[in-house]
Amino acid sequence: MAFQQIQRALLRPSFRAVAKLQSCNASSSPNGYNFALNDTQKEFQELARKFAREEIIPVAAEYDKTGKYPWDIIKKAWEIGLMNGHIPQEIGGMGNSVFDGCLIAEELAYGCTGIMTALEASGLGQTPVLIAGNKEQQKKYLGRLLEEPLVAAYCVTEPGAGSDVSGIKTRAEKKGDEWIINGQKMWITNGGVANWYFVLARTNPDPKCPAGKAFTGFIVERETPGLTPGRKELNMGQRASDTRGITFEDVRVPKENVLVGEGAGFKIAMGTFDKTRPPVAAGAVGLAQRCLDEALKYANERKTFGVPIAHHQAVAFMLADMAVGVETSRLAWMKSAWRVDQGQRNSYEAAIAKCYAADVANKCATDAVQIFGGNGFNSEYPVEKLMRDAKIYQIYEGTSQIQRIIISRSILDNAKQMS
Ligand SMILES: Cc1cc2nc3c(=O)[nH]c(=O)nc-3n(C[C@H](O)[C@H](O)[C@H](O)COP(=O)(O)OP(=O)(O)OC[C@H]3O[C@@H](n4cnc5c(N)ncnc54)[C@H](O)[C@@H]3O)c2cc1C
Repeated sequence: MAFQQIQRALLRPSFRAVAKLQSCNASSSPNGYNFALNDTQKEFQELARKFAREEIIPVAAEYDKTGKYPWDIIKKAWEIGLMNGHIPQEIGGMGNSVFDGCLIAEELAYGCTGIMTALEASGLGQTPVLIAGNKEQQKKYLGRLLEEPLVAAYCVTEPGAGSDVSGIKTRAEKKGDEWIINGQKMWITNGGVANWYFVLARTNPDPKCPAGKAFTGFIVERETPGLTPGRKELNMGQRASDTRGITFEDVRVPKENVLVGEGAGFKIAMGTFDKTRPPVAAGAVGLAQRCLDEALKYANERKTFGVPIAHHQAVAFMLADMAVGVETSRLAWMKSAWRVDQGQRNSYEAAIAKCYAADVANKCATDAVQIFGGNGFNSEYPVEKLMRDAKIYQIYEGTSQIQRIIISRSILDNAKQMS
């Protein structure tokens, strides 16, 4: 199907219904293991691949240099159905699976992970509402994102607490029918451009109160008085993405914007990652694949000692190791996404996928720079950006150390149960 045809088809409600149906069929294949994508998934993948090649790659270096937020690309991605695919059909969305979202994320990340992060962070902001919002909240806040190309953000990290989420200090106090939020958030992707935020705040001041009861999750409108995004941070990589601190000074939030109820926030904030770590892992795989493709091309063109450098075994084996990493980290995101789509607990698999894909992306980026030699160290060639962009995958959405804590706890708990 030609690109224009897919575009038109995607916008038809009937296509959305079929997409949902086929996604379900694919992920619950009665034949056991099945690595084949169904036709709709292939079309989505092809659409995202074409979009990355035609719309993202040609402008990625410019967005990286200027740090300009990629609104143009977001608007185009929104128009052709490459954003918000996870929003339920009852609200007018496509109700796509996490697996489908990952397929798209990997392709977009191949083009530029800074731009992909701008898109993906909106999904991160929406997921608490997706998993814990009531019908009215979903209709109002997710529905709004279908009406216009707007983005959301996930506000949890603070200057004093990132990995240790239970250490956050932003507090919310109930006054009549409202909550008043005060505090400071940090490193919020889409912080300066979001239309609304998911915000986690402490609502029980007792330090002995367990995390599972001490925090509440809120939906906060960007235009609420007292909410002030800081300057755009100048990050090492993924510079098209917008990262900011946000100050909350007596920010009044109606009680209707509480997710689930007082004290439910920590579980919502953490439960979100089961659905959002697979696409982050898929993004890292997209970057790793790009490193491999760029390095492969260069290694076949560049000659030393009379032969293309790909003919030197040391270089060929670096390429082979990159391929091993790409293939296996792709399987890792696929399994973690598949499990959550089946309604199975996937925290362990999502941590493995995110941790492993992040390490693979960093190794591939470093090796790609190595294969490019001096040219790899220069911004005229694409791999320098890939290396800067890769690093964040070991930091955001839970650092690689935190993923290893989740993985080790899980295997140790299992071992205890077995003994
Ligand atoms: C570009 C960018 C975008 C981001 N986007 C968002 C966003 O949209 N929303 C949001 O809420 N947050 C966001 N973050 C925050 C991000 O999730 C945190 O930076 C991350 O969780 C780490 O927290 P920290 O920076 O406070 O580091 P710390 O928690 O202080 O950790 C510092 C180091 O210590 C290690 N460490 C900490 N605890 C342990 C432990 N128990 N065992 C072993 N090692 C440990 C860490 O792995 C890390 O290496 C973003 C960050 C960046 C840089």
